[in-house]
Amino acid sequence: MPFSQLGLSDPLLRAIADAGYSTPSPIQLQAIPAVLSGHDLLAAAQTGTGKTAGFALPILHRLSQHSYGANRPVRVLILTPTRELAAQVGESVAKYGAHLHPRLKSEVVFGGVKINPQMMRLRGGVDVLVATPGRLLDLVNQNAVKLDKVETLVLDEADRMLDMGFIRDIRKIIALLPKRRQNLLFSATFSEDIRKLTTGLLVNPVKIEVAARNTAAETVEQIAYLCNKANKAELLCHLIKTNNWQQVLVFTSTKHGANRLTDKLNKIDIKAAAIHGNKSQGARTSALAGFKAGEIRVLVATDVAARGIDIALLPHVVNYELPRSPADYVHRIGRTGRAGEEGQAVSLVSHDEYAVLRLIEKLIGTPVKREQIAGFEASEAAPPMPPEPPRAPRPRRNSTQSCKTSANSSNKPKARGSA
Ligand code: AMP
Repeated sequence: MPFSQLGLSDPLLRAIADAGYSTPSPIQLQAIPAVLSGHDLLAAAQTGTGKTAGFALPILHRLSQHSYGANRPVRVLILTPTRELAAQVGESVAKYGAHLHPRLKSEVVFGGVKINPQMMRLRGGVDVLVATPGRLLDLVNQNAVKLDKVETLVLDEADRMLDMGFIRDIRKIIALLPKRRQNLLFSATFSEDIRKLTTGLLVNPVKIEVAARNTAAETVEQIAYLCNKANKAELLCHLIKTNNWQQVLVFTSTKHGANRLTDKLNKIDIKAAAIHGNKSQGARTSALAGFKAGEIRVLVATDVAARGIDIALLPHVVNYELPRSPADYVHRIGRTGRAGEEGQAVSLVSHDEYAVLRLIEKLIGTPVKREQIAGFEASEAAPPMPPEPPRAPRPRRNSTQSCKTSANSSNKPKARGSA
């Protein structure tokens, strides 16, 4: 079904055409009519499914049906876990609303930056407010914004917000909203806590599940390269160079690890930048912009910093270390294979991580293909090969190019493991 049959107004259809979208994604097909008809929504969808347009387009349609003129109370409140996601959702709302007349005003507020400029921007009123929970409460407490006219509440990446400890803030915010309103909740995973939150919040919600719960996006090819811990940096650099990867998002488990890896890559002329909690907002924004523009080839991120990063059609995601929680693996690889495009999620797995790999496979319900690269084999026995690999291996280019930065005799390859 084309976008034109979903009931969206012409200015929104023009914005969709400007964005270059030809057909609605599965979540958009289901969410747009449901939101347009005023229903509550419970959507199991991870980043990359087109969920933002799935809620932003019908919300803008409904908002533009009537106007409050100069007196602009917040009518749509979108809560997100991180500043990056808030900024991206804000950009999407502005982009999709570009042709609406009269124009709707949207603002984005998040913590970690000065509050005063945000208070000034809210002064004239806004129709759509995108916010992280803590900063929103600060603004409410300073009387910079009122939420008593909110018609639609969106909780984006609700599982992340709970993971980050926002549940009390969210409940406080909900208490400030009118009783009658539309509620839309998006979450990649469904824990007991999410279920508790949805009970009492959502009224007869339309339920949408685009990727089966807790499963990895189907379009993502997943490979685990079994290797030694000490060789990971060299292996990563080998993979980037021999496969000529131009845009790679790499996850490390610590901020220091992210910095160290970034330095190593830059030393061998692979342009890299790190984003993590110790970086200023300005540094994070410019690293992300450089990465999107293709000036930075490798973005090294910790889980918290990377949450909600939206880079269209990101081809490669690398788990330099496996995440501690298998659910984080699902989030990480949700950065690739976006909107139906093929993506590749590569994990560098050392012996101490084999148990986590098995937990991840249990959660996603599919085996992750194990491989070893000549010269970088794991010296410890590999975990058992899963019975059926999820899909046929991609042909990999052979390369004579070497990018070893040092010879490490203690990590000399032994015989190939069971992979
Ligand atoms: P999201 O899941 O909302 O983060 O969106 C993921 C990416 O898909 C974004 O870069 C969107 O611009 C893009 N996108 C959203 N809807 C479509 C569509 N119908 N066709 C192609 N790309 C889309």
